[in-house]
Amino acid sequence: MSDCLFCGIVAGRIPSTKVLETDRTYAFRDLHPQAPSHVLVVPKDHYVDLADLAATDPTYLGEVFAAAVEVARMEKLTGGHRIIANTGPDSGQTVFHLHVHVLGGRNLGVLAG
Ligand code: 5GP
Ligand code: ZN
Repeated sequence: MSDCLFCGIVAGRIPSTKVLETDRTYAFRDLHPQAPSHVLVVPKDHYVDLADLAATDPTYLGEVFAAAVEVARMEKLTGGHRIIANTGPDSGQTVFHLHVHVLGGRNLGVLAG
């Protein structure tokens, strides 16, 4: 989608700091990190959210999560980490191209609303 921010990042039209790339996924640093390590993992193809990709290609969804796990390993988040996929207005999702946040590098506390 030409007007999608994360499609622009995957295509290289918008600069990003790459952490990991696989055949069908791309991981890059969040512009406004909420933890010492804050990486976003996206499918290279445009899907709105988890439900969209799960309904279309569950194997691809697995690749996104496998990449997120690999990012946590690469970032040496040995104390643990949190993987989040905001979905829809109540979650605060702001970019409607599926992405999972990988957060770590400090004690993240209790997940709060
Ligand atoms: P959401 O709130 O939709 O789950 O997360 C969107 C994330 O994208 C936010 O954490 C925000 O900081 C990040 N973000 C927004 N614009 C950009 C950008 O242009 N580049 C990067 N690397 N991250 C962005
Ligand atoms: Zn997109």
